Amino acid sequence: MKTSIIGFPRVGELRELKFATEKYFRKEITADELEATGYALRKKHWQLLVNQELDFIPSGDFSFFDTTLDTAVSLNLVPKKYQDLHLSPLETYFALARGYQGEAGDVTALAMKKWFNTNYHYMVPEIDDETNLELVGHTLVETFKEAAAAGVKTRPTILGPFTLLKLATYHGEKQAEDFYQAAISAYSQLFTELSEAGCEWLQIDEPALVLDLSQKEIQQFEALYQSLLSEKGTLKILVQTYFGDVRDVYQELIRLPFDGIGLDFVEGRKTRDLIEQYGFPKDKILFAGIVNGKNIWINDYQQSLNLLENLGSVAEVVLNTSCSLLHVPFTLTNETSLTSEVKDYFAFAVEKLAELNDLKKISEDKVASQAIVEKNRALFKKERFTKNERLKQQLEKLTDADFIRLPVLTQRTAIQKEKLKLPLLPTTTIGSFPQTKEVKQNRAKFKRGEISEAEYTVFNQAKIAECVAFQEEIGLDVLVHGEFERNDMVEYFGESLDGYLFTEKAWVQSYGTRCVKPPIIWGDVSRSKPITVAYSTYAQSLTDKPMKGMLTGPVTILNWSFPREDISLRESTLQLALAIQEEVLDLEANGIEIIQIDEAALREKLPLRQSDWHSEYLDWAIPAFRLVHSKVQPTTQIHTHMCYSEFADIIRDIDNMDADVISFEASRSSLTILDALNRIDFQTQVGPGVYDIHSPRVPLVGEIETTIHNILNKLSIEKVWINPDCGLKTRGVPETEASLKNLVLAAKKVRGGV
Ligand code: GLN
Ligand code: ZN
Repeated sequence: MKTSIIGFPRVGELRELKFATEKYFRKEITADELEATGYALRKKHWQLLVNQELDFIPSGDFSFFDTTLDTAVSLNLVPKKYQDLHLSPLETYFALARGYQGEAGDVTALAMKKWFNTNYHYMVPEIDDETNLELVGHTLVETFKEAAAAGVKTRPTILGPFTLLKLATYHGEKQAEDFYQAAISAYSQLFTELSEAGCEWLQIDEPALVLDLSQKEIQQFEALYQSLLSEKGTLKILVQTYFGDVRDVYQELIRLPFDGIGLDFVEGRKTRDLIEQYGFPKDKILFAGIVNGKNIWINDYQQSLNLLENLGSVAEVVLNTSCSLLHVPFTLTNETSLTSEVKDYFAFAVEKLAELNDLKKISEDKVASQAIVEKNRALFKKERFTKNERLKQQLEKLTDADFIRLPVLTQRTAIQKEKLKLPLLPTTTIGSFPQTKEVKQNRAKFKRGEISEAEYTVFNQAKIAECVAFQEEIGLDVLVHGEFERNDMVEYFGESLDGYLFTEKAWVQSYGTRCVKPPIIWGDVSRSKPITVAYSTYAQSLTDKPMKGMLTGPVTILNWSFPREDISLRESTLQLALAIQEEVLDLEANGIEIIQIDEAALREKLPLRQSDWHSEYLDWAIPAFRLVHSKVQPTTQIHTHMCYSEFADIIRDIDNMDADVISFEASRSSLTILDALNRIDFQTQVGPGVYDIHSPRVPLVGEIETTIHNILNKLSIEKVWINPDCGLKTRGVPETEASLKNLVLAAKKVRGGV
């Protein structure tokens, strides 16, 4: 049996790509030096895959920012305003990814969205009626040749036309189907190029096939590939799906002349049933996604072998990961603080390669591999930790009343208005201020034991004082302490909760050069001590203005951690909710009047199929959030914040979170969310982000004013807050200060005018 992976973490074992790219952004290295780092990483990773005896080695999974953007650029999906900058190809690429402000012009970045149900973000291609989709980039074939020259035969991978055109935004009259013909030409030209270069297999990713598809889309998919596959010649095409099952198109999919079909057996709940019910064609190879590409727990070999045995009787099988390994950290070997007993339970990307190899060996010779299977079996039988019985009882005792905050929102709004006496269009920020080098160094020194806790705290307090003074000076209405003590909004809380484990180098790419290091939920979760109270009360002591307490909500903590697989997500989330509830009540008891509970990642685990939304997720996720704040006084104002997500379609559920105020990302998605708010008569007060913090660009006062007016055209002024669209931690100090000054000025101007 052969083995395959869908993609490998390109950022590098120690995030080499991130650091090189950031240096390039700061003009500390040249484009050639950046390219050289890229090449070195690709080569290193290929060699690693060769060493692990992987049979199908991907190429084209490398990217300087995002592979969807790479595909878009190679197909000439570059809107005119970026072309008009007349920058070098690499600079144009980064202008699309991050915006550009300089001598050549001033453009914002493309929109960025969550990649299906992951915490990875892709750049949304933009298409208008003038767009001329054609193959203009040749990176895929060049990379294939580059690997071949390094002695590695690879299977190039590219995002497929169906998914690409489905994910794009259309600004004109034309829609996805108007570009199918052009896509067929472009992809078939690519087929020719690859064949001529000696390529045997091409992997075309079509993850959109796991979504709910209309009858029309299914027909379009079929027609698109019928034409396209007639052009493939001798090139073998693997259509790769992931993040779910393909129940809407399975029958069409197996009828098409693909040479391989990649299906997900981890998240695809119906994948097995589909094969059982409709069979699998004898002339195709089944790339079976059995090793989990998203979570870090070891594979249950016995279970996988049973499945492989079953599948083996139906089809020729290649053992595969369930999705790209992009979504897991690089390797366990750099984790020095985890014990080897604990590490036995984990497999990161490199270790998953070993799992693939193990499974291959076991299925080839069961007798010789008996010991491997038994060692694996034993781990699943052992009790990993002592269960928290008290917590279990606490959860069992919860009643409906624990999930309802009283009095109702409208009454609370009146009470809070009276108490807080905020102006119209109150201004605030989302919480974090720039994490400068000094801020990070202070934390690192403390972690390494180079400074005492007192020294560490004094530094943070000085930063808080500076931050509070700045906010007062420019006239923000609701202040924040700046989150200087936090490495990350989830890890920081995890560190003060029992049941969590932490890694040192286990980074996962979130977008572009940004990586996150999700902690691991190992056991039952509970709060051992107050987490944020000291810094929040210190910050409040420095000002008469309200200081927002700043917490991360249970759903986001869960979604940005590697979750347990031995209990339900619901149960883990309720454990987290009780812990954060204790923190909310402590903040309130210590005089904090406004508490923001971030649910930045609320949408992340929303099932990809709408029919599962409530039953599988929202029916427990929304109540978990309500549990956190249901016991506060009516005078305490609860805020929440969500980023990036489109949530027009779950807008009622968001209102049902029953926060008093919600801020969210809106600037990059051009405020379309406001129509949705209007449609359902959204009750919660809202702060649609008035500028994009993911770009270093400073918004002008006039621009922000226009945005505010656009918001006021749709929402009643009593309900609107003015804030940036997310936290400022990734930004530099000068642009942050300039942007916030402009934000306050714009709000004041609009207030003066109404
Ligand atoms: N309070 C967090 C911050 O400001 C929120 C971050 C987020 O939404 N991702 O950084
Ligand atoms: Zn955010």
